[in-house]
Amino acid sequence: MRVLIVEDEAPMRASLRRGLEAEGFAVDEADNGDDGLWMAREFPYDAIVLDLMLPGRNGYEVCRSLRAEENWTPILMLTAKRGELDEAEGIDLGADDYLTKPFSFVVLVARLRALLRRRGGAAPTEITAGDLVVDPAARSARRGDDDLGLTSREFAVLEQLARRLGEVVSKSEIVDKVWDLHFDGDLNIVEVYVRSLRKKIDDPFGTRSIETVRGAGYRLRVDGGRS
Ligand code: CA
Repeated sequence: MRVLIVEDEAPMRASLRRGLEAEGFAVDEADNGDDGLWMAREFPYDAIVLDLMLPGRNGYEVCRSLRAEENWTPILMLTAKRGELDEAEGIDLGADDYLTKPFSFVVLVARLRALLRRRGGAAPTEITAGDLVVDPAARSARRGDDDLGLTSREFAVLEQLARRLGEVVSKSEIVDKVWDLHFDGDLNIVEVYVRSLRKKIDDPFGTRSIETVRGAGYRLRVDGGRS
């Protein structure tokens, strides 16, 4: 899951980034509304954490512009104090939720995950491929009853494959969703993660769930690799 933080206060921005990365999100940041709007247009974010009072375009304006362009990326708006934002107005402008500072990080993550779930509509909480179960809410995966002990990055790569179960997903699609803007490296990083995933989700079970589709990408098999 890739999230954009638009926040002009550097300490707040840094602590949001650290916290969200620890939760397994890929995080990009902007310190003003103009850059935030540009990035939101340019990259496929799963959600945006948008401060209201910003240099350049403020949070209202960023939100309004995106919605006017039919960009429906879920937006969690941050406001400095109660009353700064008329809550109803914020929601009318297309923010999906709002949070008043100071807020607890746990609450922010819970709200963000709720937005991501809502965006997924009727998306299943768990994705099942044979006896392989990918649980986006818990950020974990298991085979039968065995927890697979994935790192947050390994999980994020597997999640991208699971969300498009049975389809080929390209390396660049995976990188766009799992790594942030500062990643300018080689797409082969995906191979490294697929290899470590296979060691955890396949080798111990004698399965082959992740297929390499030459020149195209990877596919998670619907049967979880048992055949
Ligand atoms: Ca601010």
